[in-house]
Parts: sequence; C-alpha cells; structure tokens
Amino acid sequence: MKLINAFILAVLCSLPAASLHARDKAETVFQTSTLSALMEGVYEGNTTFAELKSQGDFGLGTLNGLDGEMVGFGGVFYQVTSDGKAHEVPDDAVTPFAVVTFFEADKTVSIDGPLECEDLEKYILELLPSDNIFYAIKIDGRFESIKTRSVPRQLEPFPPLAEVVKKESVFELENAEGTIAGYWFPEYLSGVNAAGFHFHFLTADRKTGGHVLDCRAGKIKIEIDYNDDLQISLPKTENFLDADIPGAPKQQ
Ligand code: ZN
Repeated sequence: MKLINAFILAVLCSLPAASLHARDKAETVFQTSTLSALMEGVYEGNTTFAELKSQGDFGLGTLNGLDGEMVGFGGVFYQVTSDGKAHEVPDDAVTPFAVVTFFEADKTVSIDGPLECEDLEKYILELLPSDNIFYAIKIDGRFESIKTRSVPRQLEPFPPLAEVVKKESVFELENAEGTIAGYWFPEYLSGVNAAGFHFHFLTADRKTGGHVLDCRAGKIKIEIDYNDDLQISLPKTENFLDADIPGAPKQQ
C-alpha cells in the first residue's frame, strides 16, 4: 500500500503545479456533446466556433451535418471537406461535436523517424505521466506518408456514424509537412470521448488534411499538454434531446 501511495505521489509531483488547481483554463478540456451521441447520428449542435474559440485555441471535431473533419491550432480552425480541401471555419459556423483546449505544452520531445503511426502512439504512451488524466497532443513536422479521411455532409434523417464512414473519402499524402492536433483519453471516458488516441491533420500550406487513419512520421516535434479538468456542454437541439444514446453496459 505504501508503495502505491509513493507511486501516486511521484506522479502528482511530476505534474506541473498549475494542473493541481481546479478550473485552470489551460488544464481544462472543453467539449460539445459526446462521442456516443455523434456515433448515434447527433450531427446538429448549437455551439458556434466563436463560442468554441472562447474555450480553446486547439482541437478537433466536425461541423453541423457532419460536414467534414475539423482541426485547429493557434486559434485558427479548419474544416477539411469530403473533397479533401481545407477551409478556414467562420466564427458563425456551428459544431455538433468538438474538443478544444488552450494548448500549453507540458512536455516536448523531438524525434527523427521513420516511425510508423502505431509505434509513434506507443512512443507517446511512454511519455505520459499517468493513464488517468487526459492529454492534448500536437505533432509538427514532416510525415513520410500520412493517410487521412473526411466524410460528406449529411441530411436528415441522420444515419449513424458507422454508416457514414462507409462513404468516407481517403487521402494519401507523401512527404507532407504539417501539424497533427490530437487527444488521448483514458478508457474510463470511452463514450464521452474517444478512448486512446484521436488525431486530425492539416498540411503546412493549409490546403488539405483530415482524420488520421495511418502515418509514417519523419522528423517531428511532439508536444503534450496535460489536462485534468473536463467540461462538457450538451447541445440544446431536438436532434440531441430526442436521440437514443446508448449508456454504459449495466453492472452485473
Ligand atoms: Zn476524427
């Protein structure tokens, strides 16, 4: 028992002091809706990008109607539509699901690949001080290859996400410079958000990107922002209120 306590203390002490203060905006992840609602076809929210920007300058998500993949950093948010083109998102655009934070790196590591995405994830996992908090992850640099996808805008009645991704557009880029905005959430938040890694990409020329399916990293810089506060704002739309959102399996 003493050993476990010493371990917990060591983990807490390795976190920056600011992360121990509740409701520090830099350590808070803000999200609109939940992943399980999005999976169920809740594609209509009422949070504007102006509101989203007041909660973070970095993040990922989508736009109303599931109109493409959203990726943002440095306070600028982009929509990668199903034709693969990236567009800056206007402040009055609305999102049904987005995750943002004010990005402040707590750990920075530079590596020179080649490193397959799967191994990159294993490498990042080793850098995380605890499996019980959540992380915003920014990766800048060159990718020898990167495979992304986007999804077409949907009309009501909205099909579930699993149906839509069958019609996804896939893009394969070689030797691409750009930035990944991503998150890692623990298993216990599965349904609220995506457990494990979730990466969205934007090329340095701001022309294309999307939800990352696979990659081979070259020379990259990895920045990790430790977060221990989560704020969830649920959509005040009929689409959300009337949805049949599955819960966690009942305890036996
Ligand atoms: Zn995604």
